[in-house]
Amino acid sequence: MSIIADDNDFEKPKVEKKNPVVKPEAVDCDKNFENCIRPKSFDTYIGQSALKDTLKITIKAAQKREKPLDHLLFYGPPGLGKTTLAGVIAQEMGVDIKITSAPALERPRDIIGILMSLQGGEILFIDEIHRLNKVAEEILYPAMEDFYLDMTTGKSQTVKTLRVPLPKFTLIGATTKAGELSGPLRDRFGIIHRLEFYTDEELAQVIKRTAGILEIEIDEKGALAIARRSRGTPRIANRLVKRVSDYALVKHDGKITEDIANKSLDILKIDEFGLDTTDRSLLKLIIEKYEGGPVGIETIAAAIGEDVRTIEDVCEPFLLQAGLLQRTPRGRKVSPAGYRHLGYNTGKFNSNQQTLF
Ligand code: ADP
Repeated sequence: MSIIADDNDFEKPKVEKKNPVVKPEAVDCDKNFENCIRPKSFDTYIGQSALKDTLKITIKAAQKREKPLDHLLFYGPPGLGKTTLAGVIAQEMGVDIKITSAPALERPRDIIGILMSLQGGEILFIDEIHRLNKVAEEILYPAMEDFYLDMTTGKSQTVKTLRVPLPKFTLIGATTKAGELSGPLRDRFGIIHRLEFYTDEELAQVIKRTAGILEIEIDEKGALAIARRSRGTPRIANRLVKRVSDYALVKHDGKITEDIANKSLDILKIDEFGLDTTDRSLLKLIIEKYEGGPVGIETIAAAIGEDVRTIEDVCEPFLLQAGLLQRTPRGRKVSPAGYRHLGYNTGKFNSNQQTLF
């Protein structure tokens, strides 16, 4: 496949300012909370132990062979640590990482620019890789497989084809929707891994580590109480520690205990499963207006005033995993556990039933 690039594309293969390529570096916790608490090594990256063990072996083998790692694809719901893991791999390999996301690679020059800016052995991380457009994907194929770009420049009679070699690099792709990746792109990843939701105990470790960095006092039971309502997701756990810490500081002596954590999370309307108001409205809508479903995602989104992507990427994965919602070919259905969780009798809703919310 050769790529038709206009002269402008070819002459300026630099990364545009618009392209948010970020090199991780020392960060200020007040300005960039998420990067500040991001683990940098396998030792501080909590959980996902099977995946970590596999990756450690893959990294050692690549180092022994003095070759870059195979291209890797990580998939799983947002906030589970895909970007963080890519940074850890770069650190363990001792190479730089460039981070971008598919929506920032709209024009051929964006992807060409970033590929040509790579140094040998470097890691290129592309988030939301399922959103890459067809042209960008086709530029990536020979780059991933044989490390070159095939470009055609000029117009009609003056057309020239150029094969531009690239340094050997590793692409790490991350996606919340592995199923939306095209077959040819998926096949070019040597290693494909799914990230799992974290256990309460793992999340409690994440919480205690974050509290330590932010100098927040927390005891074991306080950490577990936050963990239980964090939907198996480190990003949510970290966000909740900050919110609960605010409450602890204003209402008490600043220390997070089980009681403080529970009171504060109740005020935030995060229930004992970690569901927030949006999750509960979604389940309630399906039960009350659609007799428990099945109902299409667009209908749900319109009715609760959320966009389809937020529902699919943020709300649904945990509701499905927790067994409160079911996905069927005809749409979404609330499970008996979902009915019980919201305080309805299991089965079809009838308007005489009392609801708890
Ligand atoms: P994703 O790329 O999957 O959306 P991130 O890698 O951005 O998720 O992780 C979100 C936040 O959660 C990060 O700021 C990081 O601090 C924290 N985090 C993720 N995974 C872990 C982990 N395994 N151990 C500790 N903290 C984690």
